[in-house]
Amino acid sequence: MTQPMKYERAIVIGGGITGMLAAKVLSSFYLEVLIIEKDELPDSPENRLGTPQAFHPHRMLPLGKQIVERLFPGYTKELLEMGGYNTWHQTSRFLTKDGELVLTDTEETAVTRRAMLEWVLMQRMLREERVQFLEKHEAIALLFEEETTKVSGLQVKDRRIKPGIINKISADLVIDTSGRMSKLPKWLKSAGRTLPQTDELIVSLGYSTRYYQIPPEAPNLEPMVIVGQPNKKIPTGLFERVDHDLVAVLLSAAGGSHYPTTDADQFDAETARLTNPSIAEAITHLIPYTKPKGFRVPACVRNHYEQMEDWPSGLLVMGDALCTLDPIHGQGMTKAALEAQTLERMLKQAQENELISFERHTLQQMQHANELGWWLCAIADMAWEGVELKGTPIPHLTFVQEFFNYYVQYAVQTKQTKYLEAYHRMHSFLIEPRNIINLEQLQDMIQADSTGEVGHWWQRWDQKNDELNQAFFYEAVPDFQLHQLLKSN
Ligand SMILES: Cc1cc2nc3c(=O)[nH]c(=O)nc-3n(C[C@H](O)[C@H](O)[C@H](O)COP(=O)(O)OP(=O)(O)OC[C@H]3O[C@@H](n4cnc5c(N)ncnc54)[C@H](O)[C@@H]3O)c2cc1C
Repeated sequence: MTQPMKYERAIVIGGGITGMLAAKVLSSFYLEVLIIEKDELPDSPENRLGTPQAFHPHRMLPLGKQIVERLFPGYTKELLEMGGYNTWHQTSRFLTKDGELVLTDTEETAVTRRAMLEWVLMQRMLREERVQFLEKHEAIALLFEEETTKVSGLQVKDRRIKPGIINKISADLVIDTSGRMSKLPKWLKSAGRTLPQTDELIVSLGYSTRYYQIPPEAPNLEPMVIVGQPNKKIPTGLFERVDHDLVAVLLSAAGGSHYPTTDADQFDAETARLTNPSIAEAITHLIPYTKPKGFRVPACVRNHYEQMEDWPSGLLVMGDALCTLDPIHGQGMTKAALEAQTLERMLKQAQENELISFERHTLQQMQHANELGWWLCAIADMAWEGVELKGTPIPHLTFVQEFFNYYVQYAVQTKQTKYLEAYHRMHSFLIEPRNIINLEQLQDMIQADSTGEVGHWWQRWDQKNDELNQAFFYEAVPDFQLHQLLKSN
């Protein structure tokens, strides 16, 4: 936008996690913020039709928690008061084919059902003076200012009365946060835009989750993850507390050759076939609470709207509507929080310098916020046979993938939790991959490996010259410039 911005009304399409984070940020800049949500708002923390993924456990990573806590001070405490499970000082197990490491959580974190998290944020938003929810309203088209390329509002269908009444709502800014089924590509095409090529990770991911109740006599059962073995098509297993007396057991596999079972009679047996029997043993102490339920993700998609020179002013897009990540890595909500923080930073800049091209700049920054998550997902998921990456290639993907495998193996075999913690911090977008993948780290791994396998593997990549090796590492591992991204203003 090259004309001065107006801050009267902003519309957010979708009242999911991204929608609420965006609305919270917008409420400091716009006089009125409307959240258009096609579902009826629940009157208790219940799953909704519009968020079918909510049945499955949702982890908030440390960076996400940090940003959400800044935007909604005290939300962690509130979740804990509502029955969330506090992981502070709690240990969790990380099990691989090479052994096990135990990690201790060093900060207060509330693990809850996603519906509970959404509920707490929604109650806060309902109390915001400048924010209004329009429930049972579905966004059906963008409105454009006549003879300009500016989005001037939204056409919505009021679903409270059948067959629905169509209304027009004007706005200075519309943000699409309607999730993975976003209609934005269709709306842009019908407005005559040509869409840039998307990046797609054809992941063919299968999920199956079953909840178990913890009876009072059960022993203390630590949360755990049993890392899958893509080369043997063995799923990953997750055993996670979601409440004081509920545990979620989740099986997942990518590539499409095997989808974890959703058959109640088969589920426990399938957990016994994971790399380690610990989850199967743990559930013998528990009482099944639900049947297993599946979720399939055919592909993760990353839109490149930032490349559109004719992107309409008055329009933005965030969250899953912009880019979906493989849910098994638990990064979607943290990515949404990072995008919300990016939006806040860009709105502050726009206020100070009214003539910047706000939307294009913001989309570029949002894309920057997605970069590391996309890179990590693609690298991890491409280990599964059948997964395909279409669009922008990732240089030296196999090298990075194998380096990470040896790194985790090194952490587990040498029992050094600090390396695994660093690995998790990278997956939470808190540290650069370059802190992990570098020549010094490689030398440590080679020295610690008595079998000589790592040294032998490195022969395939070694350029026999320090400078060339350094250049190779730099090419393989981009600088994601997290220091810039993590700034809150
Ligand atoms: C199985 C699974 C497990 C996951 N686990 C994790 C996890 O552990 N950790 C994590 O961080 N992330 C996880 N995610 C990802 C996470 O759910 C999302 O990334 C995150 O919630 C952000 O989603 P969103 O708000 O962008 O979209 P959504 O959550 O899909 O919300 C979109 C909202 O828009 C509404 N809507 C849609 N269309 C319209 C319309 N036309 N008009 C009005 N309203 C509309 C919908 O009703 C909905 O309320 C998981 C995802 C899946 C699929």
